[in-house]
Amino acid sequence: MRITLTLILIGLLSCVVTNVQATDYKSNFRHIPAVQTGPVRVAPWKRTPTIIVCENAPVTESQIKKGVKLWRSLGHKFLRTQYKYDSLNKCKSGAPTGYILIHLVTQDIMGLDNDSLAETHFFINNNTNEVDWAIIYMRTTTKDTVLEHEIGHALGYLHFNKINHLMNAKWIYGGWDVDGLERKRR
Ligand SMILES: [Zn+2]
Repeated sequence: MRITLTLILIGLLSCVVTNVQATDYKSNFRHIPAVQTGPVRVAPWKRTPTIIVCENAPVTESQIKKGVKLWRSLGHKFLRTQYKYDSLNKCKSGAPTGYILIHLVTQDIMGLDNDSLAETHFFINNNTNEVDWAIIYMRTTTKDTVLEHEIGHALGYLHFNKINHLMNAKWIYGGWDVDGLERKRR
């Protein structure tokens, strides 16, 4: 029941797909602040997440280490990172509470949308307004900044269309600018 509800909720919101290579997300958040002077984080994590790079994910160990290091340098916390090691079978879960899973995308996730490089689903518990879980789906042609960008969605950040910014919706306009992505205490 919960998984069905989740799928209905995440189906309600998605990014605009353009003919420029994009990075998408789907979520169920309810409120976005009206004034946007920087990247918006719709919710913090409920628990400190563990990242699992699942078996067929097109991500190397050095890529995930680099991505985690970037977000840690901005004050974000991860319990641990498991590289293609999943003793609790979390990678099979559609709602892995407490985890950020990274998968190879399958046809049913992005379908015919060839412009998307990756897609992240993150689920917000609307009672507490905190992120419960996230799943990142990556294509095999992983480009620079895509993994870091998707971890940003997994942490609850939306797009910020400043040129060269990590959270730019369009990959070709994005870059390594991390302005406004530092973890803020609430
Ligand atoms: Zn994106």
